[in-house]
Amino acid sequence: MPELPEVETVRRDLNKALKGKTISSVRVITPSLVRGSARGLTQHLAGKKVAAVRRRGKLLLLAFNKTDKTDLVLLIHLKMTGQLFYRSRQALIAGGHGQEVPDDIVQGKPDKHTHLVFEFQDGSLLSYNDVRKFGYFELVGADRLREVLEAYGPEPLTGSFTADYLTSILRGRRTALKNILLNQSLVAGIGNIYVDEASWRARVRPMRRAERLSKAESERLHRAIVWILTLAIKNRGTTFSNYVDGHGRRGGFAQLLKVYGREGKLCSRAECRQQRAVIKKTTVNGRGTHYCPHCQV
Ligand SMILES: [Zn+2]
Repeated sequence: MPELPEVETVRRDLNKALKGKTISSVRVITPSLVRGSARGLTQHLAGKKVAAVRRRGKLLLLAFNKTDKTDLVLLIHLKMTGQLFYRSRQALIAGGHGQEVPDDIVQGKPDKHTHLVFEFQDGSLLSYNDVRKFGYFELVGADRLREVLEAYGPEPLTGSFTADYLTSILRGRRTALKNILLNQSLVAGIGNIYVDEASWRARVRPMRRAERLSKAESERLHRAIVWILTLAIKNRGTTFSNYVDGHGRRGGFAQLLKVYGREGKLCSRAECRQQRAVIKKTTVNGRGTHYCPHCQV
C-alpha cells in the first residue's frame, strides 16, 4: 500500500498537472468504487475546475474552484493497489501502486483494470486503475469532509505531531507499538514500511508493548519518524516491484531501507555487522514486521 511519502509524491505531481484544468466528463466504469451515487459524481464534476490536489494521511483530496458556490471535494483513496495515470500530449504521469504503465493507458485507452476515467477540456485524461478494487472515490460537501478529516490523527510532518504527543498515545497502551503507529486515528499516513524503518532507527522493536517505552525511547522514535518520512519524500517514496511515482519512475527510498524486506541480511549498524547480526522477520497483528534483534530492544 502506498504510504504517506508515496501518496505525497503523487499529490505533488498531480497538483502541478491538474491545477486549473476543467473536467469535461467523468466515466465511471465500475460504480462499486464510488461511495454514494456514481451518477451524482459524474453530474457534479462535469465543468469543475481543479483548484488543488491535497493530502491527509494516505487520502488524496481534489478541491475545485468555488465558482458555483458549491463546496465539493473529491476524496480518492488508493488503498492496496490503486493507481492514477495522467496522460496529456506533453506528459504521462503514473502514481500509486503499480508496475509499468499499461500499453492501453499509454495510448489513452482504459485497460481491463481501469475503473474511472476523468477527461479534461484540453483532452488530457486521468485514469484510475485498481487490480484488487479496494480503493474508493467519494464526492463530499463541507460537513462530510470535516467528519472524514477529523477522524485522522495529526500529520507526522506538522507541528501537531510532537514528542509529547507521541509519548501520550503510547502511555497506558498494552498493545504493540506497531499497532499504535499504524492506527490512522492516532497518527496519519504511516504504514508497514515506515513503522519498521522508524523503529529500527530509534532502536526499539515494533512489537514492544507501547506502554513500556521510556520517555527517551519515545522521543527517539518521534525524531526517527519525522526523519524517515522526510527522507522518503525527498527520495520520492519506496518502490519494490510495484510502486511508481508521478512520472512512472520508481521511488529511490528502496535502497535506503534498513530492515523492511531485508530479513536474513546483516544489519547495517557497525556494531551489528561485527556480531554478524541478521535482520529477522515476524508478524505483529498479521503484518510482516522486520527488526534487528541485536540493536533494537
Ligand atoms: Zn542491528
